[in-house]
Amino acid sequence: MKRVCMIGSGYVGLVTGTCLAELGHRVICVDKDESKISILKSGKIPIYEPGLEALARKNTKLNRLSFTSSVMEAVQASDFVFIAVNTPPLKDGGADLSFVEACTREVARSANKFKLLVEKSTVPVKTGERIKKTLEVLSPAKPYLEVASNPEFLREGSAVKDFLHPDRIIVGVQSQRAENMMRELYAKIKAPIIVTDINSAELIKHASNSFLSLKISYINSIAQICEKVGADVEKVAEGMGYDARINRAFLNAGIGYGGSCFPKDVSAFIKIAEEVGFDFQILKGTAAINHAQRELVLKSLKEALWTFKGKNVGILGLSFKPDTDDLRNAPAIDFIQILLAEGAVVKAYDPVAMDKMKVHFPQVEYCASPYKVAEAADALLIVTEWEEFRKLDLNKIKSLMNTNIVVDGRNIFDPMTMKKLGFTYHCVGRSPKAWDKKA
Ligand code: NAD
Repeated sequence: MKRVCMIGSGYVGLVTGTCLAELGHRVICVDKDESKISILKSGKIPIYEPGLEALARKNTKLNRLSFTSSVMEAVQASDFVFIAVNTPPLKDGGADLSFVEACTREVARSANKFKLLVEKSTVPVKTGERIKKTLEVLSPAKPYLEVASNPEFLREGSAVKDFLHPDRIIVGVQSQRAENMMRELYAKIKAPIIVTDINSAELIKHASNSFLSLKISYINSIAQICEKVGADVEKVAEGMGYDARINRAFLNAGIGYGGSCFPKDVSAFIKIAEEVGFDFQILKGTAAINHAQRELVLKSLKEALWTFKGKNVGILGLSFKPDTDDLRNAPAIDFIQILLAEGAVVKAYDPVAMDKMKVHFPQVEYCASPYKVAEAADALLIVTEWEEFRKLDLNKIKSLMNTNIVVDGRNIFDPMTMKKLGFTYHCVGRSPKAWDKKA
């Protein structure tokens, strides 16, 4: 049993802390947001993440998981101090490390004996060196803290499973002692542990997320070509995906990536490269293509409706991807903003993210089901590929709508089926020439 302090109890800190407790460790999760801590203390969790609430309750009951807003109390009671605070984007695209810095100061003030300070947040390469320097300045006489890097690869929506059954664990260390500590912490997880220096570990995270983003922008570029030449991007992706060197994952054409990680990590990596004198053109292209993709889907909706003014537009899906309520950089926010500004009446449905969206757009009508959204809609826009949308009674949807226009930003339906049902169906990268013999 190890004693762990997790600073930052958001999507990553809460999952990491709860799962480490599930592995048998004694974990104290800390957050400066008192309201978050009181929700956690009451046995609830402030985010939607399948399986997390039950696991947190179980480990709280077993006295392996607790919550506090006092960094000092948690740090002093622990041997591992994880930093899992947010690292949002700055205006220039770089990562805002002010939360990591503030955290480092608090830990330096609180440390009373040796502890391993582990970066869990996604941080630019060389952040470990900066943390180390800060610690040396703040507590020169007490070399209590050693830095390690342990980037996180969990995906929101399957975060608990991803944490407990990862593809790999990356550990960046500068001593055998730190390596041994990290190996003991993760001893119960069956996964390869890749041990590197701290700079390499930090780079692995940005390099991985940027590569996945690049794959999405790549298939979206192929989608553009498909539309121009009369091909079907879904077939192209399937054909490519059978090649084990390529793999089908992240080859889904559509609105593009959003969320709290890919957009900010791509822009941070471009900035990191710029600072060391490398022009990361392939990533600049990735970001530009992703941005254009959202515009293309909206353009397709506008062309179908001619103008947005006075139109009833129904939105299916608000979160940036299925199985989460996270709205950070969610395409739905951009779409709703533009639709409202141009005079549309917007109705929306999402299985879990409506309460959070109400804070951004109280003027949207939030509906109890997709069918309520379809009632009198001039067009439906599918923004998030929730599983329940794939199972909709499409005949019923059509009978409820004012028109037959569906703009599918996630390619969840078969175009031929939609045509046979009488919809005017717009999707991404799927030319009718490829799927409709009569076209
Ligand atoms: P989040 O915003 O959900 O959580 C961060 C938490 O840290 C907040 O609750 C905030 O109040 C708290 N915090 C900030 N400064 C603090 C301080 N000084 N003391 C105590 N608490 C403090 O962010 P997140 O999504 O959990 O992401 C955290 C980090 O993990 C980021 O660097 C992110 O890039 C990375 N990451 C996120 C994911 C993901 O899917 N969300 C996956 C892998 C890595």
